[in-house]
Amino acid sequence: MENVIIIGSGPAGFTAALYAARAELSPLVITGNTLGGQLSLTSEIENFPGFPQGLGGQELMDLMRQQAERFGARVEYDLVEEVNLSRHPFWLKTQSTTYEAKALIITTGSSPRLLNIPGEAEFFGRGVSTCATCDGFFYKDRVVAVVGGGDSAMEEGIFLTRFAQKVYIIHRRDKLRASQIMQSRAMKNEKITFIWDTIVTEVLGEEGKGVQGLRLKNVKSGEESTLAVDGFFIAIGHVPNTKLFEGQLELDEHGYIVTDRRQHTSVPGVFAGGDVQDPIFRQAITAAGTGCAAAMEAEKFIRELED
Ligand SMILES: Cc1cc2nc3c(=O)[nH]c(=O)nc-3n(C[C@H](O)[C@H](O)[C@H](O)COP(=O)(O)OP(=O)(O)OC[C@H]3O[C@@H](n4cnc5c(N)ncnc54)[C@H](O)[C@@H]3O)c2cc1C
Repeated sequence: MENVIIIGSGPAGFTAALYAARAELSPLVITGNTLGGQLSLTSEIENFPGFPQGLGGQELMDLMRQQAERFGARVEYDLVEEVNLSRHPFWLKTQSTTYEAKALIITTGSSPRLLNIPGEAEFFGRGVSTCATCDGFFYKDRVVAVVGGGDSAMEEGIFLTRFAQKVYIIHRRDKLRASQIMQSRAMKNEKITFIWDTIVTEVLGEEGKGVQGLRLKNVKSGEESTLAVDGFFIAIGHVPNTKLFEGQLELDEHGYIVTDRRQHTSVPGVFAGGDVQDPIFRQAITAAGTGCAAAMEAEKFIRELED
């Protein structure tokens, strides 16, 4: 029987683990497929307080893991496949075993949203990607396109200019959602060309050769065209990883876990922190903050059970 199981190993998960460990609850962190969460896939973090020169995403997450482990958090490289929250202690099934826990902290974050267009699934990992940091290196002196208009799309586009000879950023509107600083960085970059008011309707390619182009449609004129590219990066936002909890926890209309100001979910003893319950801020520091709050509340819940 575990005191508290933390599902997820991003900033919310490791901060929850740090606080639960310092409360002597010996928490168990189940990492999921992405040890360190979304930040472990990005290059430079410039806005996490305490690091004035910035640091690598992977480096920051290694430090968070080490800090939690130093106080007794245990880390299991496993994936939760099923939960039963209608009984107490809560029951969890992972790829390799089953667990029971007095309290649960859900920090499963979010995953990249996809376009669901022809060719996207077929060429995924063979020219279609959702992670420039992971795959940018393969596009040295090639031509690539990024779809999206937010900070992530700008960040991906700018990062890709390190390798690619040309980067198109395709956006369905004539204005970006990205912050001013990211917009001006992207617009100043000579390797980046914007394609406005345009959607991607198909990824074109050939078996064995990967992606060769995109079919585009101008949403104002209706005009269709093709664009020759070697790689296609999708940066159109994220969806919360809450499939496991459907029908067991209250979710909002976009699938985010509903929490109160103390990170309680609709089931007593189940807490949530980070992007999985935050459709608004979605930052490492806010994820860490809500992870901390979830752990403090989980501790209180367990102490009250013992009284
Ligand atoms: C490209 C990019 C750049 C970014 N740059 C910045 C930045 O500069 N500054 C900033 O503040 N924020 C940045 N962000 C946002 C930041 O990464 C997120 O806000 C933050 O990672 C959210 O943390 P989290 O702990 O809630 O979830 P995540 O980091 O999403 O972690 C979720 C964790 O849950 C695990 N998981 C999922 N499902 C399961 C399961 N079934 N079983 C077990 N584990 C599971 C995953 O393996 C993962 O470890 C960036 C995001 C991206 C994508």
